[in-house]
Amino acid sequence: MPPAIARIITEIALDREFDYLIPAELLGRVRIGSVVNVPFGRRRARGFVTGLADRSDFPNLKAIEAIATDLPLFDEQMLRLARWIADYYAAPFESAIAAILPAAVRRDGAKFKEQFVARLAGGAALPPGEEEALAKKSPRQAAALALLKTRLEMTAAALAEETGISLDGLRSLEKKGWIVLEKDVVRRNPHARTTVLPTSAPPLMDEQTAALAAIRREMESPKPGVVLLHGVTGSGKTEVYLAAIRAALDAGKGAIALVPEIALTPQTMERFRGRFGETVAVLHSHLSDGERHDEWQRIASGRARVVVGARSALFAPVRPLGLLVVDEEHEPAYKQDEAPRYSARDVAVMRGHLEGCAVVLGSATPSLESYRHAREGKYRLVKMANRVDRRVMPAVRVVDMRIEAEKAGGAHLLSQELIEAIRLRLSQGEQTMLFLNRRGYATTVMCPVCGHVETCPNCSVKMTYHKQAEMMMCHVCGSVRKVPSFCSNPECRAPNIKMAGVGTQRVEAAVKKIFPRARVARMDSDTTGAKDAHAKILGQFRRGDIDILIGTQMIAKGLDFPNVTLVGVIHADLSLQMPDFRAAERTFQLLTQVAGRAGRGDVPGEVFIQTYAPFHPAVQSARNADFETFFDQEIEMRREMRYPPFTRLTTVLFRGKEEAAVDACSKDFAAKLKEKLPAAVRLTGPAPAPLAKAKNQFRAQLMLWAASTRDYSPALRELLKSFRAPKGVSISANVDALSLM
Ligand code: ADP
Ligand code: ZN
Repeated sequence: MPPAIARIITEIALDREFDYLIPAELLGRVRIGSVVNVPFGRRRARGFVTGLADRSDFPNLKAIEAIATDLPLFDEQMLRLARWIADYYAAPFESAIAAILPAAVRRDGAKFKEQFVARLAGGAALPPGEEEALAKKSPRQAAALALLKTRLEMTAAALAEETGISLDGLRSLEKKGWIVLEKDVVRRNPHARTTVLPTSAPPLMDEQTAALAAIRREMESPKPGVVLLHGVTGSGKTEVYLAAIRAALDAGKGAIALVPEIALTPQTMERFRGRFGETVAVLHSHLSDGERHDEWQRIASGRARVVVGARSALFAPVRPLGLLVVDEEHEPAYKQDEAPRYSARDVAVMRGHLEGCAVVLGSATPSLESYRHAREGKYRLVKMANRVDRRVMPAVRVVDMRIEAEKAGGAHLLSQELIEAIRLRLSQGEQTMLFLNRRGYATTVMCPVCGHVETCPNCSVKMTYHKQAEMMMCHVCGSVRKVPSFCSNPECRAPNIKMAGVGTQRVEAAVKKIFPRARVARMDSDTTGAKDAHAKILGQFRRGDIDILIGTQMIAKGLDFPNVTLVGVIHADLSLQMPDFRAAERTFQLLTQVAGRAGRGDVPGEVFIQTYAPFHPAVQSARNADFETFFDQEIEMRREMRYPPFTRLTTVLFRGKEEAAVDACSKDFAAKLKEKLPAAVRLTGPAPAPLAKAKNQFRAQLMLWAASTRDYSPALRELLKSFRAPKGVSISANVDALSLM
């Protein structure tokens, strides 16, 4: 007898599974991962089967009503991973189930796109005279028939377009036995409009060969582990991934490659599709629901065996899985910012562990967490210290903007050295990238008399001036207001509001003024709102239609343009000033990545870093391309301060419109949590978050520090489940938090 009880989690947020009877007609058909419809209280709900049993501890079970999908959506291994996510990230189990399945696949009504296809019936010689009769009686049917005679097979939609025939008309042709009408599945293909030329693998360089060998050793080991591939920018990491994926395919297995969303440029996709063709599936946020559904199903059915995608592609149903690659493993974009707040890098390591599959983490600037694991032997460290083809690393010059200001008698946006370097590139027909991690024109709108700074009424942040629209914008909530003509401090009211600080728009204006004949473009989230705008600007840059590209971190990463020989960082200190213990690490990563865009072709590159803190370790290490020294200094600081990776940090954020309610709730929660925690867990706060107000909501934050998340995650999850927050206050936990705002 197959099991008669199914354990089910519904989509309703309860963090609890329930037992249901499997009715006789569904016995044997309900499996782990099946989607079912069940009565739930007085309602109906969709549920996912998470266990099967012969008996239940609960009396009076209700019965499953129906199976909603033919095939299970997950297997036991994926279920184990979902349970681990819920436990580790102190998240409701149903949210972990939702995370492993794209909404386009799990939602009610998810299905393939089908359409009718008409074919000429085989060997149907029409009786004489019939066609003439048909032409008189029903000219559309006759026209459709005539068309099918030449093309043999057409979709109903195409026939309707060309002849005006309806589905009923086609049905009547079918009744006469002249055509066959069938429903076919059509693939919603995200690449329908682009073709890529097949490429073959180049012979690998020595360091690449060694890296590949190390990865293959893990892949072939009975207990595959994690390889940390630390390769400088341009060292050919992607080629190593492609070769390792080829090895997985040759062994009859599939592979998943994760890239940060920002690196999901057409360029990256094309490298994978060029090498592996139709077996590549993509999963990322720019797909339509239909495309996502079809790509996922192509993977589930085994038709696609190489998956390239952002964060959630990690859960793609590749079976068997031979390799998991996480490119740019240090990227904060791998952290999901809604429950479950998982790190795709860390979950990838866990999936590899659970499924016995090798994992490659790659970066030019590994996270302190991963590098420490490698130093301690938990991960296998592989280095690629040289660029492909002996291309030299760019020469990096640090420009002390304090001296510049003295020389020029006031602060300037562009140093004289950088201006001369740009001029040289323009005269040589080479390209320049200028990087500033802040969009808009000026950072603040300030009163020169009283110093009052315009802030967003909904958020505790300064407004940013955008010149084109002559508006101030809040970069947290997006609200837009006119720049006041008088200081809005009621005690001041002075006219002559001033703009201070810089944004990318202002850099653009300055560059255009100095080089009026240069072709200048700007890429930030203000210029890439429209679909494909991003790809369009990069396309123009690649073709050489742009001399100088100015941008935010959008241009910092992953791009490979051989004609870029100059990179300028306008203001390296912006990211150093963040109120976050990772500020130095982020700055080092960002500077190294931006610098890595220069000199990727035959001409050596040059980088200028403009800064007011020229001797900061992050700036100096980036200048010397010296990751080791940076790591050694920074890890010591973290050890002393007992910051991650020496402790595990979790934040609990309380949000609501009433400041007093948020405050009271956070204190109440903290007190209750404290009772349940062992003494080894340090609690700080609750206190107003650095971003104390956002989108009209007040924010308070509690921080938990301990050697292991196991010291607090179970208690935290329990309390989150049972705690009754006052109306209007929401609570969210972020285990291994990366953002402390
Ligand atoms: P990374 O990912 O480390 O920044 P890429 O894999 O993008 O480096 O490689 C940098 C450039 O070198 C790319 O244009 C790539 O096509 C080229 N390349 C990589 N490996 C080889 C090789 N073995 N032979 C020739 N060209 C290579
Ligand atoms: Zn705002």
